[in-house]
Amino acid sequence: MPQAPRHRREAERLASLRSYQVLDAGPDIALEALTAAAARALKAPAALVTLVDEDRQWFASATNLSAAIGYHTPQTPRELSFCAYAVADEQTLVVPDATLDARFADNGLVTGPEHLRAYAGAPIIGRDGLPLGALCVLDRQARPFDAQGVQVLTDLATTVAELLELRRADAGAGLSDHDVLSESHRLRAGIDAGELVVHYQPVVDLPTGRWLGMEALVRWNHPQRGLLPPWVFLPLAEASGLIVPLGREVLQQACAQVARWRRDIPAAADLHVAVNVSGRQLGEPDIADVIAEALQVAGLPAHALTVELTETSLADTGAAVDIALQHIRALGVTLALDDFGTGYASFSYLQRFHPDIVKLDRCFVQALGRSARDDLLARTLIQLGLRLGCDIVAEGVEHPQQVDALTRLGVRTAQGYLFATPRAPEQVQEQLLGVHAPPPRATTAS
Ligand code: C2E
Ligand code: CA
Ligand code: CA
Repeated sequence: MPQAPRHRREAERLASLRSYQVLDAGPDIALEALTAAAARALKAPAALVTLVDEDRQWFASATNLSAAIGYHTPQTPRELSFCAYAVADEQTLVVPDATLDARFADNGLVTGPEHLRAYAGAPIIGRDGLPLGALCVLDRQARPFDAQGVQVLTDLATTVAELLELRRADAGAGLSDHDVLSESHRLRAGIDAGELVVHYQPVVDLPTGRWLGMEALVRWNHPQRGLLPPWVFLPLAEASGLIVPLGREVLQQACAQVARWRRDIPAAADLHVAVNVSGRQLGEPDIADVIAEALQVAGLPAHALTVELTETSLADTGAAVDIALQHIRALGVTLALDDFGTGYASFSYLQRFHPDIVKLDRCFVQALGRSARDDLLARTLIQLGLRLGCDIVAEGVEHPQQVDALTRLGVRTAQGYLFATPRAPEQVQEQLLGVHAPPPRATTAS
């Protein structure tokens, strides 16, 4: 029997899955409603939401599983998981007859008393862009799945992902006082010990491919747990208020680093840097002074710095934040609205704080070409930004077709794995130096 495949970024994927804190959780009525809807829509006797863990797939929700295929446990070994394939490929998997599919003909669920024959599963992609599991339907009869049914399954999987995201936010906010205290103690010590590192992702000029700037993205180089991505510790940093010293540290490191590159590397002379600033930081009365000082110490001109603000960071903030934004703008710093289109009040933020840049969230980029509706939505958001005089930066560009589509829509600037993943400063530096490195000299041997 073939081994269940692994995702190309399995370690990160598992870290992301853990951050949802849903494994082994109790029943969830909303998830159950979604699995029931999937079973109904595809006229299947059973449906599941599975989360694909390191060695097992765990059922976050199941409709009719024991009645339909006589399966009574809340999980299966990963080797038996069909969903692991949908997860590894990040694609909807349709198996009309498992006995005819080399990957599954010897699978214990197919050869055993469950007599599983047909399967369709859509990956559940989390907000970190990594698949967590799948929403799937099962049948003991071989059967086709029509395109419309598969589309419904894919749409419902998106809703499952949104639901898990809400649960993750609740879990982050719901740490007990004791947990927040002890964990934040560790984070505070980590900040003081210089364990926070900043990685950089290039912002690219689409027509020329030139690197215009870098987005600074924080990581925690944890002595025991290795390099931790922000979703693991930022909720704690927000909940404990440590986001304020953490954010200051990132700002100082990023300004200093990019100022050095601008001085030392000809190809980087005009490089910009974008730093994420949370709502909590903006609420600090001295935020504009903190930024001004970081610029001054680094010797970075204000116009080379962009401050990125998310819609959620601006939610529920009052006049103090509006004044802070005025002061930051008066320094000559560029303001960007991050994750544009994902909040509940995108338009009101456009009006309220007049960003210079809007960053089109990657969910719109990834939906390009999926349907006429998705294209219309992206086009409308881009048009709105452009007409208000903002520059648009598209996020999460992974495929050349997305570049073509964005270019047609008038977007000139983008970030994404297609160009470069976020990476350590030494690696970025090597590439920056490579731009103007002389061609390798031929050896004089012959
Ligand atoms: P963000 O500001 O939207 O940052 C972009 C995120 O998208 C980064 O995740 C980046 O690695 C990821 N990304 C970039 N290109 C692609 C792509 O082509 N495909 C996909 N699927 N993802 C892509 P990262 O580094 O994990 O950061 C996550 C979030 O954490 C950031 O989202 C930002 O909101 C927050 N964050 C990171 N650093 C800081 C910081 O220093 N301060 C604050 N307040 N927030 C930060
Ligand atoms: Ca950002
Ligand atoms: Ca973003």
